[in-house]
Amino acid sequence: MLNKFFYLNTIGCQMNVYDSGQIATLLTGMGYKQTGILETADLIIVNTCTIRAKAEQKAFSFLGRLASLKLKKPELIIGVGGCVAQQEGDHIFKRVPHVDLVFGTQAIGRLPLFIHKIVEKRCRIVDVGLTELPDLTDRQPGRPYSNSVSTFVTIMRGCDNFCTYCVVPHVRGREVSRHPDRIIDEIRDLVRFGVKEVTLLGQNVNSYGKKEGLLSFPELLQRVKTIEGLLRIRFTTSHPKDFDNSLINAIKTNEKLCQHIHLPVQSGSDRILKRMNRKYTKTLYLDKIAKLRDTCPGIAITSDIIVGFPGETDTDFNETLELMTMVQFDGLFAFVYSDRPNAPAVQFNDKISEQEKRKRLQTLLELQENFTREKNQALVGSIQPILVEGSSKKRSIDNIGRSRATDQWTGRTTTNKIVNFNYSNDPPMDAKILPGKIVQTKIEKAYAHSLWGKPIGVESATGRLKGEKSYAA
Ligand code: SAM
Ligand code: SF4
Repeated sequence: MLNKFFYLNTIGCQMNVYDSGQIATLLTGMGYKQTGILETADLIIVNTCTIRAKAEQKAFSFLGRLASLKLKKPELIIGVGGCVAQQEGDHIFKRVPHVDLVFGTQAIGRLPLFIHKIVEKRCRIVDVGLTELPDLTDRQPGRPYSNSVSTFVTIMRGCDNFCTYCVVPHVRGREVSRHPDRIIDEIRDLVRFGVKEVTLLGQNVNSYGKKEGLLSFPELLQRVKTIEGLLRIRFTTSHPKDFDNSLINAIKTNEKLCQHIHLPVQSGSDRILKRMNRKYTKTLYLDKIAKLRDTCPGIAITSDIIVGFPGETDTDFNETLELMTMVQFDGLFAFVYSDRPNAPAVQFNDKISEQEKRKRLQTLLELQENFTREKNQALVGSIQPILVEGSSKKRSIDNIGRSRATDQWTGRTTTNKIVNFNYSNDPPMDAKILPGKIVQTKIEKAYAHSLWGKPIGVESATGRLKGEKSYAA
């Protein structure tokens, strides 16, 4: 048996987390075991991200730190995968000479071949081809990479939208959807190993299957719903230009679909949206939000915003703040614009200074903080079904001043809010609290980024969610 270890560092988005799962499964299939200690690894893989300059810097800084390890252990294999690998190709060898392997976003399936070849011939390999037929290698059936209750499933790869700031179409290639049967098989297999919630991933899930003439996205959701034992379905990302009534209707009628949508607006100024090539206006976005809230009251809405896009004036920025005030998002991911290679906005010459971008980011985050707090506060006193994801030991002081380690459970509401809670001190009920269970929780406190609750009941075997009636205390 191969007595070798791999260390896997994942940087970036959920797509990379999913791809890392595939990488880990392939390496485990070769006989490698995973280690969390760099020094014990025979193979180190860095799965990189290049969406913003900061993520790319993080990858190079980690790779730089591996030089001394390689010096001590020359047989160590260092591989770079993901979007930086795709973007930089063999330039990585010049910048980081101790790297052995550069494999792009469509080459993951060939990883075992690369490693065998490097072990045999001690050569360097680069494979960053992008084709119209990307590597849609299915996840190998079997135990998933992590033991979590909730996991990601990629339903499509690449992107055809070409937003002017974005590197994704250049490093992930054109949009391709996976066949629904493969997706269903994969989720069924994950459920066999204890997964209760899946997040379906794509850069624009609304266009799932359109090019290939497969099912529409709402139809796919309908099929995923039929999987027995799966309790919750999430998805990301939905592009506002394609977000339509059929999806709104699916959120209303598909009882496994969570009451949360991430709908990145990027800016509140029509002028900037046009320069970004987003293909919708502020009014169109607001109309869709109104329809969504009308049909699905209580749904949580989160978004992405870029500040300091080239040419963004104070007036444009104020329009973004106005839009935020009108929508009052439950949460927001705000990013400072950064130039990315090959993205058209690199050529735009009216760049905003770093100082101004930071100032705008601060203003925007302060405004959002109020909305997030208010949204969380509004849940105090309500009863929420929480899907328990895990527990951690926390030290607390009991009523006679002793420090005690207690289990603190953590899970999420269907609206994707994190809820922490302790046992209820009701032994029969507490015995039922486990990862993967739905626990009815009374929300007692709201914080900036989480809620605190008290368990009042644990789901009976039905696995029903919304408007859950049958639960046992
Ligand atoms: N496909 C998704 C969509 O269209 O909404 C977005 C995916 S992208 C991986 C995640 C977020 O990164 C984007 O929504 C955008 O806000 C941000 N982003 C992308 N390129 C950026 C850039 N050059 N500078 C700053 N933020 C950027
Ligand atoms: Fe990038 Fe736009 Fe595609 Fe999203 S839709 S991945 S922002 S090009």
